[in-house]
Amino acid sequence: MARSTIQVRRLIGRLLGMTIAFICALVLTLQTDWAQTGWAQSLPPEQVHPIPTILTQAVQRLNPDVEPGDYFDAIERKGVGYLVWSQFPVTVAIDALGSDRWKAQITAAVEEWQRYFPLKIVSTPETADIHIQAKRLALKPDPKTGKLPRFRSAETHYDIFVSKTSDRSDGEIRQRLSHRMTIDLAPGQADDVMLSVARHEMGHAIGLWGHSPNPNDIMYFSQVSKAPLISSRDLRTLQRVYSQPTRLGWEVTP
Ligand SMILES: [Zn+2]
Repeated sequence: MARSTIQVRRLIGRLLGMTIAFICALVLTLQTDWAQTGWAQSLPPEQVHPIPTILTQAVQRLNPDVEPGDYFDAIERKGVGYLVWSQFPVTVAIDALGSDRWKAQITAAVEEWQRYFPLKIVSTPETADIHIQAKRLALKPDPKTGKLPRFRSAETHYDIFVSKTSDRSDGEIRQRLSHRMTIDLAPGQADDVMLSVARHEMGHAIGLWGHSPNPNDIMYFSQVSKAPLISSRDLRTLQRVYSQPTRLGWEVTP
């Protein structure tokens, strides 16, 4: 018995050794002015937006027998509904202060997603929908064990606010319930790690707000030694998320 316990411990040790620390936090930030100015009473009702055509086409091309199913049940629905975008392309600003190595990996991850989702890299972080920052993260104790991790590779959080925007389709000024995603991604990691972390965090930023139980999906909660590419299950889950209603992106009537 003792021996098998040791073997199990060794196995766990080996599995942990293969797992690169990948502590990924999802944080909600509600801007206080939004909560205090009475917008809560005039929130738009939850409605479904059209699904981006490029995503629908990508899912139609999938072989239903390869990586079947999805992990939609693991995706969180927030008070505003699902965290989907409705104005396309979604703009992504990559921190100009990041090193060339860091920027190359982040750009590669965004380009991988561009095959399935309308994204545009821009150089205006103030107005971008998604802002990826080269930032070392403060260590936070694990809520279960109370222990500090050795390293945190990334964190994605979102803000919700009411924006006055010129509509990208007709130029009209509209007040919309909007969100903005910020990804803090630590520099100085191995290139393949930064690429897989960026791929995963971009998944959160475009609406996969949760983690897959399957290590072959990029949205698996931990990073595995051989990082997967965007899987059929990732894409099917994303399409299901985009089929859900949300308050985001709809007009607010003051
Ligand atoms: Zn994550």
